[in-house]
Amino acid sequence: MGQRIAVTGVTLIDGTGRDPVERAVVVVEASTIVAVGLESEIRLDRDAHVLDGSGATLMPGIIDGHCHLGGASHPDEDRWVLEDDRFQSMASVAQAQALVRHGVTSVRDISVNGPHLRTAIARGLIEGPSIVPCWRGLSRTGGHGDASGVPADLVRTSHPWGFVADGPEQLRSGVREIIKQGSHCIKVWASGGGLHENESEDVQHYSFDELRAVVAEATCAKLPVAAHCECASAARDAVRAGVWSIEHGEDLDEETIALMASRGVSMNPTLVLLTQWLDQSSTFGGPYGPPYIPGVERLPDDPREIRRLHHSHLSRNLLAARDAGVRIGVGSDSFCSELTPYGVQTLNEVMALVGAGMTEMEALVAATRSGAEILRISEVTGTIESGKRADLLVLRANPLEDISRLAAANMALIMKGGELIKDELPRARPQPLPQATV
Ligand SMILES: [Zn+2]
Repeated sequence: MGQRIAVTGVTLIDGTGRDPVERAVVVVEASTIVAVGLESEIRLDRDAHVLDGSGATLMPGIIDGHCHLGGASHPDEDRWVLEDDRFQSMASVAQAQALVRHGVTSVRDISVNGPHLRTAIARGLIEGPSIVPCWRGLSRTGGHGDASGVPADLVRTSHPWGFVADGPEQLRSGVREIIKQGSHCIKVWASGGGLHENESEDVQHYSFDELRAVVAEATCAKLPVAAHCECASAARDAVRAGVWSIEHGEDLDEETIALMASRGVSMNPTLVLLTQWLDQSSTFGGPYGPPYIPGVERLPDDPREIRRLHHSHLSRNLLAARDAGVRIGVGSDSFCSELTPYGVQTLNEVMALVGAGMTEMEALVAATRSGAEILRISEVTGTIESGKRADLLVLRANPLEDISRLAAANMALIMKGGELIKDELPRARPQPLPQATV
């Protein structure tokens, strides 16, 4: 038996959605949680390493179900292809480290670096979250994972997260290549994403038959499919084709929401980035096309009114999915260090769920248990329970009282797989108590 670490006196939010428990203790041995209970019920070993969490709140590490550790610096599709690949692979190490230092202990990554980062992190060579790698995602020619201003050959060798394929046959072999590269999930851009005028968000990019081919091939390898869908028809066809999760999904009709709920298809909304995207639009002086707000044909002139419409649409769409029983996760969509800072963006996305109308507890469950279910790692992590991996945070103030407390500066302890990433809790001695020894 190795040395145990016990965090005592905490308010426990276990990630399941159950009410918090006061004066709880969590005991960790090596990489695993070995006991969870009330302070009055758990007697600690004499040599246990005891951290005093009195007044603090303990919760599972955050799970980000959608990010791109491609090492890109800038929010420009040509520049992220032109940047040197080796520089980007080094930059991706810093991006991974930033995530875990903000309490993000697991991610699903869509980038060429993911499988290698996963190995390097698992071997302890570098610091970062556990990674569910997707490697590159499938984009049609001229789609969101292509780049319009650089030669096609360069896109093929150097796009940090896009793999161009058209038609069912190319998609089938694309899925096989992606699996060969170490992917645990297949990402597909079923609609455009607004990088330029020829790939706007309201256009479906893969047909139902193409999406079916992707799902069929992924299913042969027992892998789920995550589909980027920004327009209603793409989401509807993706769900009908059998995908596992809808990414962004800001334009879901009633039929699609009902189908998602009945088939257990999850949704990773993207509130913060879509707001940043709006601000990057030509209307606001940015490089991208006019703002896209599903269902709004003619935009008002007043920028404040555009922002209000956008926020109310995103919120309504998300809450309709939640109300129907669709599992909601957290996806930062961090894709470049400049616009979407890693870790910060993830925490802001959790806060934005509350801003959209979810409760604090719902947002925390989305960021923990639901995230683990979407990543298919819920047997390992996502909740604070005996036998689970020790991925946990201790916060100086309770995020259920104010979600803005879910900030890195408020984290007194970050533990990932039993490893202390940050440790600012005071030491205490084991308290001899009469109850059973764990
Ligand atoms: Zn993305």
